[in-house]
Amino acid sequence: MRVLFVASELFPYVKTGGLGDVMAALPRAMRVLGADVRLLLPAYPAVCDAVTLQGEVTALPDLMGGGPARILRAEAPGLPLYLLDQPAYFERPGGPYDQPEDLAHRFAALAWAGAYLGRSGDVAGWRPEVLHGHDWHTGLMPAYVAYGSGPRPATVMTIHNIAFQGRFSSALLNDLWLPSQALTPEGVEFHGDIGFLKAGLRLADRISTVSPTYAREIQVAGGHGLEGLLAHRSGDLHGILNGVDRTVWNPARDPHILSRYDLRHPGRRAPNRPDFQRRMGLQEDAEAPLFAAISRLDPLKGLDLVLDNVDHLVRQGGQLAVLGTGDPHAEGAFRQAAQRHPGRVAVFIGYDEILAHRAFAAADVILVPSRQEPCGLTQLYAQAYGALPLVRRTGGLADTVVGATPATLAADTATGFQFDWANGLALGEAINDALALFRDPATWRQVQRRGMATEFGWEGPARAYLELYATIPPKGD
Ligand code: ADP
Repeated sequence: MRVLFVASELFPYVKTGGLGDVMAALPRAMRVLGADVRLLLPAYPAVCDAVTLQGEVTALPDLMGGGPARILRAEAPGLPLYLLDQPAYFERPGGPYDQPEDLAHRFAALAWAGAYLGRSGDVAGWRPEVLHGHDWHTGLMPAYVAYGSGPRPATVMTIHNIAFQGRFSSALLNDLWLPSQALTPEGVEFHGDIGFLKAGLRLADRISTVSPTYAREIQVAGGHGLEGLLAHRSGDLHGILNGVDRTVWNPARDPHILSRYDLRHPGRRAPNRPDFQRRMGLQEDAEAPLFAAISRLDPLKGLDLVLDNVDHLVRQGGQLAVLGTGDPHAEGAFRQAAQRHPGRVAVFIGYDEILAHRAFAAADVILVPSRQEPCGLTQLYAQAYGALPLVRRTGGLADTVVGATPATLAADTATGFQFDWANGLALGEAINDALALFRDPATWRQVQRRGMATEFGWEGPARAYLELYATIPPKGD
C-alpha cells in the first residue's frame, strides 16, 4: 500500500512536541510492515542540511502567494521524503509556527502540495493511494482533493491536538486557492471563518486521534467547538495510541545518560540521579523523592497545579525539577519557586532534548497533570525509564497508566498514579500517595518494574493504521 504522510514536524530536525516524535516513528514502523509510506514536509533548512536530496518532482512559479516553490525528493534514514521547498515561507529563523502573518498561506501551501502529489504522483510514477494529514497544518488537504480534479486518493486526518485548529478569515478564500463553493458548513467554513482542521475533519474519509479515551472526549466536551462534527462522524473516528520509539527512548542504549540500565539491572539507574541533580543545581540528596515535569508550559498541560504544590512537595522532603518553556507567566512562577527553594526546586526554561533524557533516567516521579492530553508521550518515556508517572485521568494518560490502588498493587498491574479533578488539591493528594509509596521501596520497585516491562511499541499502532486504511472503499478517479 502506498501512503503519503503530510506533516509539519519530523524529529530530530523539526520538533515542537509529540507530533515530531510520531512522524519519525510511525511511518518507519509501517514500512517495516511492508507499506510504502513516505512523508511530505516543508523543506526547513534543518531538514535540508541533514537529509540526502534526490532531485525535483515539480516546480511552480508561485504557490499560495509565496513565490516560486518546488517539491523535491529526499531520503532520511529509513524514510523516503518529499520536501516542499519554498524559501519565502519555510526558510526563516524561529519555530515553524512563529510569524502569524502568513501562517495560513504557509500551511495551505503544504496541504496543496500533498494534494498535488496525491493527484499527480512523482516523476517516477509513484502516486499514493492514501493521503494522511496530521493536525491542522494539513487540514485543507482533503479540501484540495475534494474540490480539485483528477484521481482521488483516500484521505485520512489525524488529530494530535484538537486545541490547535488553524482558524483564519474567510477573506483569504481566494488567496488559499479554494473555490467559493468551499465556504459552506459541508466544506471549509467554520463559524464564518475558514477552519483548517474543521475542513479536514469534515472532508477526510477517515479520522483518527491518538488515544481511545481522547476520541471519546472530543465528541463530548473536549472538542474545542468541534464536538458536534466529531459526534456526527463518530463511525469514522478511531483512537489509536501512540508508541515509544525504542531506538531513541531506551535506557539500555541511551547515549545521553551517565549510566545505562534495563529491567535486569535496575540498580544501574542510581548514578543518573546525582548526575542530573548536579546539572540542575539540586542538592545531591540520595533520599529525597525527585519529581520532574518535562512539558510545554501551556494551560492545558496543567503545570499550574504543580505550582500550587511546590511548597507542599518541598515540605514533605521532595525535590522538583521542571524542564519547560512556553507561557511567560508560568516560566516566571517556576523561576520564583526555584529561588524560594534553592537546591530543592530547579527549573530549566527552554527546550533541551538531552536534558530530558537525563531527567527521565533520574526522576522518581514524572508529573503529567494535563487538563487535556490527546495521548502524551512523557508518561510512556517515564515508564520505559523506570520513573513512575503521576497523571490526571484524561485522554491517553487514562489509557496508558494504571494508577496504584490496593487492587492494582495486589494484582501487580499498577504502573503509576492517577487523579481525577484538575485542581491543586487533587494533585496534592496524588503526590501524597506517591510519597507514601516511596517509603515502601519493595512495592515501589514492583511498580517500577511493571512500567519498564510494559511494551508501548509502534508495531501495534502501525498495524491499526493499516487496518484503518483498509476500511476505506476504493474510489473511482
Ligand atoms: P505535546 O506534544 O503536547 O507537547 P507530548 O507528551 O505528546 O506532548 O510530547 C512532548 C514531547 O516533547 C516529549 O518528547 C517531551 O520529552 C518533549 N519535551 C517537552 N518539553 C520539553 C523540554 N522543555 N525539553 C525537552 N523536551 C521536551
